[in-house]
Amino acid sequence: MHADSSRRQFFQRLFNGSFLLVGLGLTACRGEANPADETGESKAAADCDDLSGLSEQELKLRENFGYLPKSPVADNQCSNCNLWIPNATDPSCGKCLLFKGPVYAVGHCTSWAPQT
Ligand code: SF4
Repeated sequence: MHADSSRRQFFQRLFNGSFLLVGLGLTACRGEANPADETGESKAAADCDDLSGLSEQELKLRENFGYLPKSPVADNQCSNCNLWIPNATDPSCGKCLLFKGPVYAVGHCTSWAPQT
């Protein structure tokens, strides 16, 4: 009986310790995969379609400016607009001075203005 109890305790400790190590390993891996997540910039750069952080009002504002992810006007796109805010880590996805959220470099809206 005593030997069964000791064996059970041994396996319980082993089992608990394994989960602790796996949990620590997963936490460490998550940290390495996205080291710049703390700034929020890498996430925006990684997914220019991610509007999940915007409120209904902010989404409506984007819509009111007629933002499109692909410009229908030749030679007029966000990357050559005066209101474009480039992203140092991802030139294909930046921001706009008029509204919040990611903006494609090849995007466009009704307020496009030539760079001065
Ligand atoms: S004003 Fe319009 S065209 Fe200019 S960067 Fe902003 S969304 Fe793009």
